[in-house]
Amino acid sequence: MKSLPNSAKKLIQEFSNLPGIGSKTAQRLTFYILQIEKEKVSNLSQALLEIKEKIHNCIVCNGITEEETCSICTDPNRDSNIICVVEHSHDIIVFEKTNGFNGRYHVLGGTLSPLDGVGPEDLNIQNLFERIDDGMEVILATNSNVEGETTALYLTKILSKKEIRLSRLARGIPIGSDLGYIDSATLVRAMEGRTSV
Ligand code: ZN
Repeated sequence: MKSLPNSAKKLIQEFSNLPGIGSKTAQRLTFYILQIEKEKVSNLSQALLEIKEKIHNCIVCNGITEEETCSICTDPNRDSNIICVVEHSHDIIVFEKTNGFNGRYHVLGGTLSPLDGVGPEDLNIQNLFERIDDGMEVILATNSNVEGETTALYLTKILSKKEIRLSRLARGIPIGSDLGYIDSATLVRAMEGRTSV
């Protein structure tokens, strides 16, 4: 590393800060960038800036969108009486890939974690409560780790004040796993076998 120019070291450091990228991959990516045409690098950096400038959270579900409301919330063919509650906006992609869910979503923006100082007021829980009317169905699709379970328990408690059908994803999902790593078939089974809470 000592022999590398400072600008290369800096880029390696930036890549290393990304999730799932170790120092070796960061070095490889940096040398790859050095090899490719300047135009490609420019397109990449522009794309990076563009998502930060254009994408924000949907005012209804808190998923990502370039408009005020996302394409799922505005789709008239989707059932607005079923809401699948997920931790992060990327969890929506996992469910969408299954083609097995035609309701809408609500993104909490994380999980309850008292040790890290994350309480109910730090998540999109209040607007979830306001979104739900009697007669609706709510599926709690938080991860099956400690934080995900804690969050699901809390939501069960506050949502039981409403006359709704409340369910939790079935245990086809390995305990402690992240939804992003679950294959579609497992997720479909978990959805089908969801249990009332
Ligand atoms: Zn939305």
